[in-house]
Amino acid sequence: MKQLKNYIAGTWQQSETIDYLAVVNPATADILAEVPLSLSSDLDQAATAASEAFASWRRVPATGRIQYLFKLKTLLEEHRDNLAKTITAECGKTLKESQGELQRAIENVEVACGIPSLMQGINSEDIARGIDEMMIRQPLGVVGIIAPFNFPAMIPFWFFPYAIACGNTCIIKPSEKVPQTMQYIVELIDQTGLPAGVVNLVNGSKTVVDAMLDHPTVKAISFVGSSPVAQYIYRRAAEAGKRVQCQGGAKNPVVILPDADLEMTTRIVADSAFGCAGQRCLAASLAITVGSVKTDFTDAMVATAEQRVVGNGLDDGVQMGAVINQGSCDRIQSLIQQGIDEGGKILVDGRNPKIPGCEQGSFIRPTLLQDIPPHGDTASTEIFGPVLGLLHTDTLEDAITLVNQSRWGNMACLFTNSGAAARKFRYEAQAGNIGINIGVEAPKAIFPYCGWKESIYRDLHGQSQHAVEFFTQTKVVVERWPKEWSRQF
Ligand code: NAD
Repeated sequence: MKQLKNYIAGTWQQSETIDYLAVVNPATADILAEVPLSLSSDLDQAATAASEAFASWRRVPATGRIQYLFKLKTLLEEHRDNLAKTITAECGKTLKESQGELQRAIENVEVACGIPSLMQGINSEDIARGIDEMMIRQPLGVVGIIAPFNFPAMIPFWFFPYAIACGNTCIIKPSEKVPQTMQYIVELIDQTGLPAGVVNLVNGSKTVVDAMLDHPTVKAISFVGSSPVAQYIYRRAAEAGKRVQCQGGAKNPVVILPDADLEMTTRIVADSAFGCAGQRCLAASLAITVGSVKTDFTDAMVATAEQRVVGNGLDDGVQMGAVINQGSCDRIQSLIQQGIDEGGKILVDGRNPKIPGCEQGSFIRPTLLQDIPPHGDTASTEIFGPVLGLLHTDTLEDAITLVNQSRWGNMACLFTNSGAAARKFRYEAQAGNIGINIGVEAPKAIFPYCGWKESIYRDLHGQSQHAVEFFTQTKVVVERWPKEWSRQF
């Protein structure tokens, strides 16, 4: 069985652990590889390598640093098909979804190639007679990046291209459930000739994360994952004096007005709720119909949910793949039962499906739960599976009130044909990513990824200018050049 390695100081190294975890294809239950649950000593080696590399890397001009990113972009494009297969095999999503995820990763590399202008400072001449003042941006040093399972390629790219382009060095810890994708990508990074120690990869789980949070050499932490872990990491890293950004979970509402285009809305909401088997932090998980659209939308969603083609994401024609593992299947099924116990009516029941050719896989078919209590546990718990709760209100105001009562704030969407309703929603809805006739409002790389409320613990988000601000510290310099100069004036 293939045992994965860590990438430290530009070489592939066996972890010092004896503890390995199976990496499993969720569609077939085949074991693909074994991933080391690395020790704090492995993390320490990576931190030392990254720290040594930082001394010279920060001196490479920004225009020189981004040359490696240009090469990486080309390699990612050349390897796109194989990378997509790797993502699908270990994560379960369809090949098309894996391709889409890679595209988002590549776009972040493209934006990070703009660092020479993105990290420019500001300059004021003559703030006093003969005195100039400037603000410059400098890198932080070694930064740590901790990723979740659901986007094994894309999420590290919200951070590391910006981090290294700004002159930092980094340690990436992928999810132990899907470690092969970053292993593959780091092999490509190695081919770019990036100096040793600038990017390091350490596999593992909590032990490695805790070692990263406590390590004095690591100056900043970027995390994406579930909210309880986000909160834990935020506290512990902040206590250790680190800069920290933690993007967490979600429960995203979409609101449907009677004037929405029903065909388009149904298709988009179904893609949002059931795409990636609902394992997206921007998945629609509550659909709130307003007024007269309830019956038509419900009927259309039932038909769409029942027709969705579920199977091995590697197979042609499959629209929805597996969820990550059997534990996740069990959890989703118990949350569906909880919804029923709370008084919800199950319109489409996706539990315990039989998927021909994938009898050992971890599957849930699309599920629709109607009339769950709007303030109950099911309406507020992140299910992270292909389950859509259907709620109803009489007015847009009531729907917005429902949206804003949520403790989450990752995304809220409105489907309408009315500009006035759209503006009201955009203005009042308390979520950081707003979609109007859009089902998955995933900001492009030139925008920050703006979760609110319990969907993020931080000040700055991933991607774009926010990433540049996060990965640089500002320094203000006031200069007087020889005193004769000021005397002349
Ligand atoms: P997770 O929180 O279980 O794991 C995320 C990372 O943290 C992994 O690398 C894991 O090894 C590590 N980890 C897990 N438990 C830990 C602990 N107790 N101490 C230290 N480290 C720990 O999340 P997941 O199941 O991999 O991913 C799904 C979650 O991520 C969902 O809640 C989803 O909404 C969220 N997510 C959020 C965004 C966003 O942008 N807000 C994007 C993608 C996913």
